[in-house]
Amino acid sequence: MMNQPDTTYKIDTGKFKKPFFEMGPIRPPSEGADYSLLLRVVRNCPWNRCLFCSTYKTEKFGYRSVEEVKEDIDVAKALYDEIKSASWKLGLGGSVNNDLMRAIVHGNPEIYGDGEGLPIQNLVNVANWIVSGGRTVFLQDADALIMRTPELVEVLEYLKRTFPTVERITSYARAKTCNRKTLEELKDLHKAGLSRLHVGLESGNNDVLSFMQKGVTREEHIAGGRKVVESGISLSEYYMPGLGGKKWSKAHALDSASALSEINADFIRVRSLIVRKGTLLYDTFTGGGFEPLGEDEMVDEIALFVENLNCHSYIISDQMSNLLFEVEGQLPDDKEKILERISRYQQKSAMKKLEFRLKRRLQSYLGVYGYLDEELDAKITEAMEDIQSEAPDAAEKVNQAIAALKQGFV
Ligand code: SF4
Repeated sequence: MMNQPDTTYKIDTGKFKKPFFEMGPIRPPSEGADYSLLLRVVRNCPWNRCLFCSTYKTEKFGYRSVEEVKEDIDVAKALYDEIKSASWKLGLGGSVNNDLMRAIVHGNPEIYGDGEGLPIQNLVNVANWIVSGGRTVFLQDADALIMRTPELVEVLEYLKRTFPTVERITSYARAKTCNRKTLEELKDLHKAGLSRLHVGLESGNNDVLSFMQKGVTREEHIAGGRKVVESGISLSEYYMPGLGGKKWSKAHALDSASALSEINADFIRVRSLIVRKGTLLYDTFTGGGFEPLGEDEMVDEIALFVENLNCHSYIISDQMSNLLFEVEGQLPDDKEKILERISRYQQKSAMKKLEFRLKRRLQSYLGVYGYLDEELDAKITEAMEDIQSEAPDAAEKVNQAIAALKQGFV
């Protein structure tokens, strides 16, 4: 029955308080891999000044009321129920597949007609969430923790009441905000269901933090991080190799390692710096005020960083900005293994390094976009040919090709 192209399912919009729930632009890759339900509790970033970041640049921060967020949860629940009900009515026994999605989209052209925008994003998010068991939720946007504690507790409790299958609720948070909450508040949030916070340390060096206008000091990072760990909430800290540029590379690696060693987070996530067009850092760079590291210098910096970590965190490079996905393992046990993997790259010949870098970056790009446009294709082909013939300008061509690929990195 489901294979017939004319199978459709009409959503009962009477069950919806409004046509869609809000969703923000990003979530950590681990939440994407787990198909977490995305729920926006605040809009955009309350700080929005970091030089390297353009995610919310054109958007204003907005505090959302508990009532607004609860309405969004209700809409997600209504959609959840409708998808389930469609599955049963169309003979799929509660399971969700592409045929079911087509039946819902075709049955509701007034909602999903153009195949774009929030309604379709909601549908895909909730459907994937059902498929993955409805266990994980990610609260958006950049600093969900900034919500007043009793209000966030109310949202967490309502969310768990509405979806009893939920086992893990996570969000991004600024270290400043973690530090402003009392230990008791963090414990209350943990008790109400907040399982994990993702915090952008970026650097443990005060010169780098201040130059990048991070709005947080090393001391606040450490105090905020330690408080989260003590509260029982799982903590993911993000380290950004290259953020000190050539000027502060060594201090950035050493101070980030010592700060993260003091915090002893559950996870350290590596996010190598990409100087993106549209950021204030790009303007600073083109004006000569910032000298970025080359990719091999970045690898050396990561080696120095890992060497100086003294903690029990799990380190992971789960994002396409990183060249060496191999930088992953449980510290301190896997430290030597990770350093060996880095060293294997460092010991390659110059041409082999170029080939490795180009292929790795291409693999990451194709993983997201699936194809190259004509211009990119020509750049890659030219760089590859230069590597094969060991042409004197091979490094330049590879760097240009990789720079072009990286502008598409998410
Ligand atoms: S706090 Fe995070 S989201 Fe906000 S500007 Fe800085 S890096 Fe971007």
